[in-house]
Amino acid sequence: MPLTDKFGRPITDLRISVTDKCNFRCVYCRSADPENHKADHELLSWPELDRLSRILLGLGIQKVRITGGEPLVRPGVEDFIARLKSLGVRDLSMTTNGHLLADHCDRLVAAGMDRINISLDSLDPAKFEKITRTHSFSKVMAGIDRAQASALRPVKVNAVLVRGLNDDEVEAFAEFARERDLIMRFIEFMPLDADRHWTRDLVVPAAEIQRRIEARWKLEPLPHDRSETARKFRFAGGRGQIGLIASVTQPFCGFCSRIRITADGKLRTCLFSKDDHDLRYMVRNGHTDQDIAGYIREVVNDKEEGHRINEPDFVPPSRTMVFIGG
Ligand code: SAM
Ligand code: SF4
Repeated sequence: MPLTDKFGRPITDLRISVTDKCNFRCVYCRSADPENHKADHELLSWPELDRLSRILLGLGIQKVRITGGEPLVRPGVEDFIARLKSLGVRDLSMTTNGHLLADHCDRLVAAGMDRINISLDSLDPAKFEKITRTHSFSKVMAGIDRAQASALRPVKVNAVLVRGLNDDEVEAFAEFARERDLIMRFIEFMPLDADRHWTRDLVVPAAEIQRRIEARWKLEPLPHDRSETARKFRFAGGRGQIGLIASVTQPFCGFCSRIRITADGKLRTCLFSKDDHDLRYMVRNGHTDQDIAGYIREVVNDKEEGHRINEPDFVPPSRTMVFIGG
């Protein structure tokens, strides 16, 4: 029987973080310390990841997204993708900061990856460098070019908007989507940053983004699968699309179909889970595939009804985004 939780939600989507290392230090995600990551022996090896993936696919997972940290910094990621594809993943994608994408794109396509999400938080090189604490603007733009010229479809570009930092670029991003004929997605800033600077005032609500774009262009809503994170629009008579991910102001937990495995082998049933569930221990201590599958079923059954960001007693999880995998 496919995975479901006690609220009847089918769990079909898996995000696998393959590393907590990253070549960027985005202010809304990582701390400034470049060495703030776990030791290699703490991370699941490729054979351990292969085994867990096989077990999870046997439980009805259909969509897999590879993430991190920055997934392209881990050597061997293309081979892992090829093995996942041969296991029969229907929809295989990656979220990347794009720095290494131009160099890796052909190999990702050859490995069988279907689509890609690239993060880009500013169209202004100086601001981009301030947000990511890198000098990588042109590398990321080259990655987007390369992805658009490849067989990867669709190409989505993600921006996390932070009030006072890059919220002046809503219209510029919309223009970028139109010019480049790509899907531009705006993600609300969530309380998952390592520096714990998140406050509600820093969140730019999706409704405000929509209003601003609609003041310039006519948007037409696109059909939307209930478990999808983004509400989608196209420009009437124009190219490109917009996606609004209102995780904070309009949570979509009621139809959530996602679970996650962290790079150190913990199963998480929500970005905001208080607890991790230790699959690495089981993999390394002689548990059978059947034991592991049974444990996953139990944990998934207890998936949280929703995140509690908007509740007065909300406490951010101890793991921040880079240690979970977005
Ligand atoms: N390094 C890759 C990247 O940046 O695309 C993949 C990992 S990153 C953690 C995955 C996604 O999470 C990115 O789109 C990133 O912008 C987003 N993200 C990170 N911190 C966030 C936060 N505090 N709130 C909302 N989204 C966040
Ligand atoms: Fe790295 Fe992605 Fe986090 Fe930026 S958002 S620090 S690129 S993991």
